[in-house]
Amino acid sequence: MQNSETSPGYNESQGTTMSRDSQIIHYNEIRIPGLKSVAASEGRCFVCSSSKGRIRVKAQVRIDTWMKIGVYIPDKNRMCEHHTTEGYLNEDALKQVKVKSSTKMTSEEISKWFGLLTCEAKKTRKIIDFEPSSPFKSEDYELLLGVSRANFDSMMNFISGAVKTSENRSVRNALGMFLIKLRLNLSQKVIALLFGVKSQAVVST
Ligand SMILES: [Zn+2]
Repeated sequence: MQNSETSPGYNESQGTTMSRDSQIIHYNEIRIPGLKSVAASEGRCFVCSSSKGRIRVKAQVRIDTWMKIGVYIPDKNRMCEHHTTEGYLNEDALKQVKVKSSTKMTSEEISKWFGLLTCEAKKTRKIIDFEPSSPFKSEDYELLLGVSRANFDSMMNFISGAVKTSENRSVRNALGMFLIKLRLNLSQKVIALLFGVKSQAVVST
């Protein structure tokens, strides 16, 4: 079988791949046509190709990008921190990334990626969500909270550092719970249900 897209040094008989730093990796890499991705890039930022100030791409960025534009970001990719806003790739970065029409993954990467997506799918569903990854528009903020998205973001800057993220809810959703309580005076049980929070204790505003 010929595969022109496999890495240099691919040895089909042994099922191994020779990486750039000459380490043998004991699994095969598979090319998946039609599955969009960005290039694997550990030495440079995968958005702007800068070699300075790179951080490892977090799982939430990879999942959010997949959900928004259907593009796979390899596990070990790195990026500049300024391409994110509140922990997600910002609009400029989403426009800037160079998207390939296929993906190369090892069996280990495929397994890890499905595991990550499964964890995401099992998360408690939120009916109301003010995370940047949520599809809520500014008018939805105004309807539910009485403030625009821009005003909400200003409040977030104001309380930054004063409210902690918990396992059950983010700081944005904590602020959302507080404002929705003020505007609609819903019970804690209803707020917990709407925000997909298991314990009512965290709703204490
Ligand atoms: Zn960059």
